Order: sequence, then C-alpha cells, then structure tokens
Amino acid sequence: MASQIDPHAHTLHSDGTDTPEGLVLAAKRAGLDVVGITDHDTTQGWAEAVEAARRHGVGLLRGVEVSAVYQGNSVHILGYLMDPQDHSLNLLFEDARRERSTRLAQMASNLAADYPLLDWDALKERAGDAALGRPHLADELVLQGYFPNRSAAFEWALHPSGPYYVPQKVASPTEVVELIRRAGGVPVLAHPQSSTRGWRVPEELVAEMAEAGLFGIERDHRDHDAAGRETVERLAASHALFMTGGSDYHGTGKPNFLGENSLDPYILAEIEAQGTSKVVRS
Ligand code: AMP
Ligand code: FE
Ligand code: FE
Ligand code: ZN
Repeated sequence: MASQIDPHAHTLHSDGTDTPEGLVLAAKRAGLDVVGITDHDTTQGWAEAVEAARRHGVGLLRGVEVSAVYQGNSVHILGYLMDPQDHSLNLLFEDARRERSTRLAQMASNLAADYPLLDWDALKERAGDAALGRPHLADELVLQGYFPNRSAAFEWALHPSGPYYVPQKVASPTEVVELIRRAGGVPVLAHPQSSTRGWRVPEELVAEMAEAGLFGIERDHRDHDAAGRETVERLAASHALFMTGGSDYHGTGKPNFLGENSLDPYILAEIEAQGTSKVVRS
C-alpha cells in the first residue's frame, strides 16, 4: 500500500485546536503513515509530538510554518527537519511571535469599536503561550456570539481588505528561505495561489525565493483553484522546485481534514536527504 503522508498541520501551539498528541492520534485515525507538525513560528510542539509519534506508531515530520511579508502581504514558508536549536531561527521566531502579539492587540483594539464584548485579556489567557494569530480573534468573536464560526469571522471582519486589519511586520520571504537553509532545514512555499486570501504570491518573488534556496512549492491545497495549480506547475518546472501538497489541518478551527492532500514518498525521501534531522519513525 502506498504510504500516506500529510506534511502540513497545526496544533494549539499556534492556531490549531489539537494538542500535539491529539494531532498524532488524529493522524492515526485518518490512516496516515506520516504527519507533519507545522505550527506558525514555533517548534514548541515538537517534543510532545515526537513522544506521541513513538508511542502511537505514527511517523512524524518535524516542521514549522514561518511568517514573512512581501509588499505588505503575508507569505508563509514551511521549513522541515531543521536544527531546533539554531540561534538565528529562534531569534526570528521570537520576533515573529512578539510581532504577532503586538499586531493582534492592535487589531483587537480596532475591532473593539464595533464589537465591544471582545475581551483581549480572556483571549490571551485562553491562548497561553501559543503563537497568536487572527484565528484567536475569530474564536473570541465567536465566543461572544458575533459570528457562528471562525470562517464566518474571516469573511470580512478579519479579512485583509476589511477595516480592522493590521499587517504583520516580519522578515522577507527570501530572508526566511536563507535562514531555514542555514539552520539545516528544507524550505517549501505554502499555498502561494490561495485565492481566499485575496492575493497570490507574484511569480517574480517565487523566482527570487528559488534563487535563495527554495526546495519546493505547495500545489495541492484546498485554497488553490485549477488555474492556481497550473501556475504552480509552470513555476515548479521553470525553477526546478518539488511540488508538495498537504491539508493545512487546524483541528476544529477549519474544515480542512487530515490526509485530504498528500505528499509523494519520493519527495519526503528528498526532504530527509537535504534536512539536518530525520522523520521520527517508531
Ligand atoms: P494571521 O497569522 O493572523 O495572519 O492569520 C492567518 C491564519 O488564519 C492562517 O494561518 C489560517 O490558519 C487562518 N485562516 C485564514 N483564513 C481562514 C478562514 N477562512 N477560516 C479559518 N481560518 C482561517
Ligand atoms: Fe494557521
Ligand atoms: Fe499558512
Ligand atoms: Zn498552515
């Protein structure tokens, strides 16, 4: 039987709703052989996930989804199998998480004008030390009864084109690609053609990132339409990038389900060959 690999998923260390062990168990239930833990700007979930993977007999691909910004627009870069102790990368994560918090507080204060029940302190308390993002604001707005679920809150209140939005001030995509490589990791551009975000990663930026050491580019992602997938295929061919796919599972925070997209085993082997660490296998 072909190996089932889903290399893109979140836990409550960022904006997912499962614990790392919960993610591993969900992967097992979904029949996956390997699951990737890729929280935004943190590797805090790795230790628990490694232990759970060994205990429950599921392969674990350790990764992270790093935030970058290009001309005011957000770009996400997955990094796999890097050294979690790498100093520069950890500084970048600390900066990104601090900026996530500052920026989210600004958005909360913008929103409070029209959604007065929004409680920033309660939100912070619930999130603990997770890397904060708009999904945490969405959860608070849902809890206060303003929206039925996260997706509805994203439709306009949290949308980049809406009146409350504040962009993140983080590193550039090429810097992030270089930092991941220097930390022994393997960088993959996440959902570059996501139509739901109202902006697609420009082709010239993909060229720059490829030049900086990009390994791959996500093609199979539920936010990609047919035209977007064709664009990815063309870009992958012209810049010699591997094409990946994943669910971008966030637990109950999004409809995305584990295993809805998967990664070719030969590409996982190539990621392992280029990365500093290995997939955890029980
Ligand atoms: P931020 O990191 O604050 O820019 O928020 C972006 C995050 O919001 C992404 O990582 C997604 O997990 C989440 N997100 C984006 N669109 C939606 C949506 N329509 N429904 C639920 N979550 C979403
Ligand atoms: Fe997310
Ligand atoms: Fe993302
Ligand atoms: Zn993601």
